[in-house]
Amino acid sequence: MRVIGLIGGMSWESTAEYYRILNEEVNRQRGGLHSARCVLVSVDFHEIESLQRLGAWKEACEILCGAGLRAEAAGAECLVLCTNTMHLVATQIEETVRIPFLHIADATGERIIDGGLGKVGLLGTHYTMEQEFYAGRLQKRHRVDVLVPCERDRQLVHDVIYDELCQGSILQESRDNIVTIINGLVEQGAEGIVLGCTEIPLLIREDDVSVPFFDTTRIHAEKAVAFSLG
Ligand code: GLU
Repeated sequence: MRVIGLIGGMSWESTAEYYRILNEEVNRQRGGLHSARCVLVSVDFHEIESLQRLGAWKEACEILCGAGLRAEAAGAECLVLCTNTMHLVATQIEETVRIPFLHIADATGERIIDGGLGKVGLLGTHYTMEQEFYAGRLQKRHRVDVLVPCERDRQLVHDVIYDELCQGSILQESRDNIVTIINGLVEQGAEGIVLGCTEIPLLIREDDVSVPFFDTTRIHAEKAVAFSLG
């Protein structure tokens, strides 16, 4: 079993989910008392979020590159960055470490294609919904068209992520609002919904959505297990 390296803490609420899924999945496949071999380097999310707001991506990237190098030095044999948003600096992290970097949008794009879908709705932080690094990668590498909500709805989703989910608050009102936004995307032609933020699966479950849904936390963690056990 190869050692999975995790850069976590963005937020710790979703990193805890990664840890749970990795262990459950290894145990499901290997049985008995088997659990995941992994190394976690966890950052202070206050620091990262402040840099995001300032647009100081270079400084945030330096912190994450340092975390990646520490995971590698501690024995990690692959790297999993436990956030969609910070994949904005994935290329630089990938170039800094020697171990394989498992990109969350590639893992998700492969699942969408396996499911036979050509157009999906994307929910995430406004960085993920509005910048090229995520939708562009799905479009160019995986030939998947991406729809995002209107500006007002993007703001709502973004605020729910930072003000509630990253702080452990799961509210029914927010679930209802996000389901309404998802239904709007489905009406516009989305054949599936990408929960492109690692906290959204804490709020939205498969039953809440009428079309196939892609839980990026689970998909990414399962990709890491496939690497570890493969
Ligand atoms: N975990 C979130 C994501 O998947 C948002 C937190 C962050 O900004 O990293 O995008």
